[in-house]
Amino acid sequence: MQTWDRACVVLRDKVGASNFETWIRPLRVAEIDGRVLLSAPSRFYRDWVSRNYLAAIRESLAVAGCAEPDVRLELDDQRQGELFPATSVDSGEQEKPSAALSAGPGAPAGNREDKAPGKGPDRTARRGGGPRIGNLVPRYTFENFVVGTSNEFAHAAARAVANRPGEKYNPLFIYGGVGVGKTHLVNAIGHAVLRRNPLAKIVYVASESFVNDMISALRRDRMDEFKTKFRKVDLLIIDDVQFLAGRERTQEEFFHTFNTLHEGHRQIVLTSDKFPKDIPDLEERLRNRFEWGLIADIQPPEMETRVAILQKRAESEGLELSPEVAEFIASEVTANVRELEGVLTRLAAMGSLNGSEITVPFARSVLAPHLVDRGRAITIEDVQRTVCEHFGLSLTEIRSKKRTQSLAAARQVAMYIARKLVRASFPQIGQKFGGRDHSTVMHAQDVVERRLAEDPSFRAAVEALERALTSSRQA
Ligand code: ADP
Ligand code: MG
Repeated sequence: MQTWDRACVVLRDKVGASNFETWIRPLRVAEIDGRVLLSAPSRFYRDWVSRNYLAAIRESLAVAGCAEPDVRLELDDQRQGELFPATSVDSGEQEKPSAALSAGPGAPAGNREDKAPGKGPDRTARRGGGPRIGNLVPRYTFENFVVGTSNEFAHAAARAVANRPGEKYNPLFIYGGVGVGKTHLVNAIGHAVLRRNPLAKIVYVASESFVNDMISALRRDRMDEFKTKFRKVDLLIIDDVQFLAGRERTQEEFFHTFNTLHEGHRQIVLTSDKFPKDIPDLEERLRNRFEWGLIADIQPPEMETRVAILQKRAESEGLELSPEVAEFIASEVTANVRELEGVLTRLAAMGSLNGSEITVPFARSVLAPHLVDRGRAITIEDVQRTVCEHFGLSLTEIRSKKRTQSLAAARQVAMYIARKLVRASFPQIGQKFGGRDHSTVMHAQDVVERRLAEDPSFRAAVEALERALTSSRQA
C-alpha cells in the first residue's frame, strides 16, 4: 500500500467520512520521492483544503510513516471550471465504451468526447494508478463487498437496482450506522451501472456537497448549471442525506430534483444514518418521497462477516493474516467495518515497521489501547497511579487542590484517561480528584482532546499511558 493510501485511512477517521469524500477524495495525488503532490480541481477547493485540512493531511502522512511529510497543494489546470469536479464522469482514463453499448434513453453524453485520452500535458498520476470513474471509489465494488446476514437485504436491493435502474425500487434508501458499508454499497451500484452502460450519466455526491454546490451556484448566479447537473442524470446517488436536515432551501431544490428524476424514471439512491421518519428537520414531502421506493437497512456485521471482511481485505492488500489473528481482531472490534479496517491497517503498518510477524500476541500488544478490557476493570485509582508514576508525582499531589502548571496538566491527563478507560461519570471523576466539580473534569477532557489533535508527541505519551494501563490487564 502506498503512503497516501495509508494516510487516507487515518485521515478519514480524523475528518469524518463525508468531509473526506467531499474534500479529500477529489484531490489528485502523485507521490514522488516521498513528496506528496496534491492537485485540487478548483481554486475554491484548493483554498478550502489548504485552510481546513492541510494540517490533518500532514499529520496523517506522518502517522502513515512519512517522517517529514512534504505536501504541496496546487491547482489542477486540467480541471478548472468544473462546477462540481468530483462528480463528473471523467472518461479520460476510462476504457473505451464498446460500440454495442449505447447510452440510456436521453442520457446526455457529456463532454467526454472532447477529452481524448493522451491529449494535453501529462496528468497527475492517479492514486493507485487505476482508472477512477468520476468520484466513485474504485475499490467500492460488489466484488469487494462481503455479504452476510447483516447486509444481505440491502445488498440484494442494491443489485436489483443496479440491474434495472429506474425501474422498480425508486428511490432505494439505505440506512445504517457509521461504517457499516452504505457508501461502499451505493458506489457499487454506480460501478455496476457504468459497467453495463459506460455512457450512463452518474452523479454521486455526499449530501453536504450537494448543499455546498448549491450555495456556490446560488452565489455565482449559476443555478441553471446546477439544475442541469443534477437533473439530467441516469443515476443520482446522494450519500448521507441526513445532512440535509434543517436546510430548507436545499431541501426544496432537492425536492424538485427528485421529482424530475423520478418522473423521468431515473434512478435515485440515498443513504442515511437513520430511517426517513427519524431524520429530524426534514420536510414532510421529502420524507414521504424517501419512503416511496425501497428502504433497506444495514446492521453492524456479525462475527463471521467480520472475519470474512478482514480476510478479503488482507488478501487484496497482499497481507499475511492468519485465521487466528483474523478471529482475534473480529472478536475484539465489533462495532463497524471501518474500525475493523483501521485496525488491520494499523497492524500491517506496525508489523512492517517492526519487521515482526503478525501474531495474536503482537496484535494484542498493538491494539491494547484500543480494545475493551476484558479482565479486571480499570479503576480511577489505577489511572492516577499510572499517571503519577509517569510524571513523577505522588497520589496525594494529584488529588490535592494544588494547581501548579505541571500538576494541573498531569491531572487533566488522568481525568481524560479515567473518562475514557474507566468510563466513569464526570462527577465520579471529580470526586476522586479532591472533590472537584464535574465542569472541571469536562474542561480537562476538552483541553486534552484539543492537545491530542495538535501535538503528536503528547498523543504518543497519552497512548503509552493507556497502553500501560490496559496491557497489564491482558497479559
Ligand atoms: P458507511 O458509509 O456505512 O459509513 P462505508 O461504506 O464507508 O460505511 O464502509 C466503511 C469501510 O468498510 C469501507 O472501507 C468499506 O469498504 C468497508 N466495508 C463495509 N462493509 C463492507 C462489506 N460488507 N464488505 C467489505 N467491505 C466493507
Ligand atoms: Mg458513508
